Amino acid sequence: MGGPAPIAAPNIGRPVAAVWLCACLLVWFIFLPEPASGAAPRGEPKRVLLLHSFGRDFRPWSEFARTIREELERQSPWPLDLQEQTLLTARFDNPVPEAPFVDYLRSLYQGAAPDIVISFGAPAARFVERFRAELFPETPMVLTAVEQRLVNRAGLTDNDTVISVYNDFSAFFGSILHVLPDTQTIAVVIGASPLEKFWLDEAKREAKPFEGRVAFVWYADLSFHEILQRAATLPPHTVLFWGLMSVDAAGVAHEGDLALRSLHAVANAPIFSFQEAFFGQYTVGGPMHSIGASSEKTVNAAIRILGGEKPANIKIEPIGFAPPRYDWRELQHWGISESNLPAGSEILFREPTFWQRYQWQVALIAAVILVQAALISGLLHERHRRRLAEVEARQRLAELARVNRYSAAGELATSLAHELNQSLGSILTNTETAELMLKSPSPDLGEIQEILADIRRDDQRASEVIRRLRNMLKRVPIEVSQINLNETVGEAVGIVSALAEGRAVTLKYVPASMPLRVKGDTVQLQQVVLNLVMNAIDAVSEVQTEKREVIVATGIADEQAEILVGDSGPGIANDHLKDVFEPFFTTKTQGMGMGLAIARTIVEAHHGQITVENRSSGGALFRIRLPLVG
Ligand code: ADP
Repeated sequence: MGGPAPIAAPNIGRPVAAVWLCACLLVWFIFLPEPASGAAPRGEPKRVLLLHSFGRDFRPWSEFARTIREELERQSPWPLDLQEQTLLTARFDNPVPEAPFVDYLRSLYQGAAPDIVISFGAPAARFVERFRAELFPETPMVLTAVEQRLVNRAGLTDNDTVISVYNDFSAFFGSILHVLPDTQTIAVVIGASPLEKFWLDEAKREAKPFEGRVAFVWYADLSFHEILQRAATLPPHTVLFWGLMSVDAAGVAHEGDLALRSLHAVANAPIFSFQEAFFGQYTVGGPMHSIGASSEKTVNAAIRILGGEKPANIKIEPIGFAPPRYDWRELQHWGISESNLPAGSEILFREPTFWQRYQWQVALIAAVILVQAALISGLLHERHRRRLAEVEARQRLAELARVNRYSAAGELATSLAHELNQSLGSILTNTETAELMLKSPSPDLGEIQEILADIRRDDQRASEVIRRLRNMLKRVPIEVSQINLNETVGEAVGIVSALAEGRAVTLKYVPASMPLRVKGDTVQLQQVVLNLVMNAIDAVSEVQTEKREVIVATGIADEQAEILVGDSGPGIANDHLKDVFEPFFTTKTQGMGMGLAIARTIVEAHHGQITVENRSSGGALFRIRLPLVG
């Protein structure tokens, strides 16, 4: 029937799927994590027996053991069953107590021998060699952290791999004298366990070639307590050599780093040791055994052996000292010059300098200071420019104000001349009268005295008019001083009083009952008052009423000094109220429109305000407020 033929999907899809599968496998292989780098260990667990010589926490072996344990766990492709045993007998001279320990191990591992035994240090190596037949006849062994002189070559089998080190005392003593050429005595700290006694002899042998150059003091017969006492009072040019201190002459075992820590705390001389396990806290440094190098070789051998390789095939040369390394803090403490260090030395634990430690903070602070300095200098420059501009503006204002005063003086000239004329006229009249009286046979001296007093008064009035005018027109720089506003305003009113009189305008001045102390320039403030009063006189002159009045008053309002200038004129049209202080605003045919603009500038320069309003009773009222002093 006519249905569509089944598409040969498998025929097309199969090659595609195969390619896809191959690609996936390729990707999987490429990204397959190495077993050593974190893949979960698989298969049967491998039993690893770690055998310590003195205890789990005896340096330097404990440091080797710790690193090896960690690396084994990290690198092993199999799950590990790590078992640690300690051969405490190495601490004692008497090997008798080994038997029960052997029995214990035998019963423990009977029928379930470990897959590998790793021994740390010579005593453990000797032990496993000695009891191998009884305990682990078939088990491969890695003997590590053992000095090559202590390897019992006769006891080795094909089932053993040795990772040994080489203690080169002579090279190390040489390195001490290189670093501290003035050294006169080397005090040697080596304990009293059998192993330590062996090393004492070796060290003595290797010290022989140096004996002409430096004296050696051996602390092997002392308890550690006595060693501490000696170390605290060593003569100058002495150094301490820290060999081993597992058990002291008093039979006390010293675990961990407690002994060296105590020695370091009291010693008055630098401590040297070729064991890296003590470096970084207590010793100066020098050529040392590298824990990393020995551990790496041990772990590598152990994994190869666990993987099926024959131990005899893994041959490793004794490992010598690594290139010299020194602790910067100790060099500083003992005043050891870096130039004395052997070529190729590495200096560790260098304390960062202040700059290194606080590099970014210092940089940040410096940047902030720089930005701040730039800002400050910018602001200072700006301020300087503003000052200049202000000075210029003030000078212009002073110029303008002076011009304004000159024009006011022009307006006042007639009335002032009239006032002067009046005084001079009455002086003349009085003088003539007095002359006539003096010609009479019996002149009334009392009356002549009164006439003379009048002459004097008129003269003073005329002088006062001239003084005021001169003051008003003098070209003086702005002079800010503390003034009593009542007097300043009164004087201005006095200047203009003749004009008011000439125009038949009543000019009243009502000063405040208390003095009004303000800071300001007298001439400028008087000019403001003058302008306001003259405008007021102009305004009242416009109206044809009986009441042609201008009142000037001073007082205190809102804790400020206040000057009021009111008039009975027509007032200011509401539309113009906000314009009257603008420059060139005038409603007068001969007006310039600068008087109030100058007045406002002067008042504002005195930190005050000037306002205007229309009085309800008619006329304008100008109000000036200035800050009071004290
Ligand atoms: P000018 O006196 O040359 O016109 P001002 O700046 O002193 O310049 O005054 C500006 C304007 O303000 C005056 O033309 C006037 O219209 C108005 N004015 C000032 N004082 C008074 C006043 N007391 N009464 C009414 N109008 C005033």
